[in-house]
Amino acid sequence: MKRYSAFAIAREAFRNHMGWGRAWASPEPRKKYDVIIIGAGGHGLATAYYLGRNFGITNVAVLEKGWLGGGNTGRNTTIIRSNYLQDPSAAIYEKARGLYETLSQDLNYNVMFSPRGVMMLAQTQHEVRGYERTAHANALQGVKTEFIGPDKVKQLVPIINIDGPRYPVLGALWQARGGTARHDAVAWGYARACSNMGMHIIQKCEVTGVRQEAGKVVGVDTTRGAIDCDKLGMVVAGHAGHVAGMAGFRLPVESVALQALVSEPIKPCMDVVVMANTVHGYMSQSDKGEMVIGGGTDGYNNYTQRGGFHHIEETVRALVETFPMIARLKMLRQWGGIVDVTGDRSPIIGPTPLENCFINCGWGTGGFKSIPGSGWGFAELMAKGHSPLTEAFGLNRFYEGRFIDESVAAGVAH
Ligand SMILES: Cc1cc2nc3c(=O)[nH]c(=O)nc-3n(C[C@H](O)[C@H](O)[C@H](O)COP(=O)(O)OP(=O)(O)OC[C@H]3O[C@@H](n4cnc5c(N)ncnc54)[C@H](O)[C@@H]3O)c2cc1C
Repeated sequence: MKRYSAFAIAREAFRNHMGWGRAWASPEPRKKYDVIIIGAGGHGLATAYYLGRNFGITNVAVLEKGWLGGGNTGRNTTIIRSNYLQDPSAAIYEKARGLYETLSQDLNYNVMFSPRGVMMLAQTQHEVRGYERTAHANALQGVKTEFIGPDKVKQLVPIINIDGPRYPVLGALWQARGGTARHDAVAWGYARACSNMGMHIIQKCEVTGVRQEAGKVVGVDTTRGAIDCDKLGMVVAGHAGHVAGMAGFRLPVESVALQALVSEPIKPCMDVVVMANTVHGYMSQSDKGEMVIGGGTDGYNNYTQRGGFHHIEETVRALVETFPMIARLKMLRQWGGIVDVTGDRSPIIGPTPLENCFINCGWGTGGFKSIPGSGWGFAELMAKGHSPLTEAFGLNRFYEGRFIDESVAAGVAH
């Protein structure tokens, strides 16, 4: 596969861009692979990539029922941050944030990582105390964040109304190296790098059954026939409960739609990401100029994967308090994705009751930011049976009552 570079662009400019090859191959499935990953979202593709890059395991297939990146990975609002409270969370999210810094170079694919800064507003005394505590925890974890006052908030975000009709802005938890990346590009970049290593990414291939013998996984049934494997990774986000059911075990997750919307494009007016957890909404501005707006999850479990009017009303009403200028914007489009939420708002990454079958799910409303770190750790777990990055997140924590409570950090989601 050709390397992307300034020279390649110049060369192609002279031949009407006719020389670009396909970014990834579309092979027919083999009868057997060493590793099968179910789900070509960011987490599944990153796992395959680090299996090859870090452990030399390349006889890998990533099976996707739709198109790659068509799940939550291509539907999120792209916020990247690592300001979580608990040590295991800070470790995996900070690993991911660090990998994002050089991901474009590592993958030779521009993922448009933009460390523009992420701000979580404190609009009650309770939030002030909560975020001050997180800032102290982050200092101990080596994650760079700080609690800033309302003047600094106003300086960084001139369009904000810090006096708010209901909730004045009392300060914010600020992570200067948090930001955004282009979500499709993250999936596409990993897919291209995997394909380059000879791995098979097989789209329109739904897994319909998990085959096992004597308590061990031996393969999967798919809409394109049966495929054998030595190890299986389930990385299907909102469909985790469904796929786990095929393997005969249950998960403590709920599937629920999370929605977002964008406005018409406008001139640059806000160059950081702002999350307002008390009023329940968050906003950033895309490179195209659209205001990217999100809020909380639907109040009931569902698999709808689309937007609804109640969400527009709730979220926009909340954000207009903090950003009065958005009242005059028109909405361009709205969508939804099915996220898998756990009780402690932390992911599940670990072995399953079925031998050689591993699961990575439960990222809920905030798993885009963790894709590189999750892929790194899950690949290590699948290759070696153990990873320091993932060990706290196993299914056993629900039996042992050892929760990793991130309900404050998850906040308004993301
Ligand atoms: C509106 C919205 C906004 C969000 N905003 C943010 C944000 O700002 N920051 C952040 O960090 N996170 C955010 N998230 C969450 C984030 O998008 C997800 O946590 C993350 O993308 C999950 O990635 P994944 O690879 O696990 O899942 P997905 O990208 O959903 O991939 C799973 C794949 O599995 C496939 N699949 C399912 N069942 C089968 C089967 N039987 N056979 C084969 N394939 C199957 C699906 O088709 C899908 O492509 C947001 C999510 C939504 C919906």
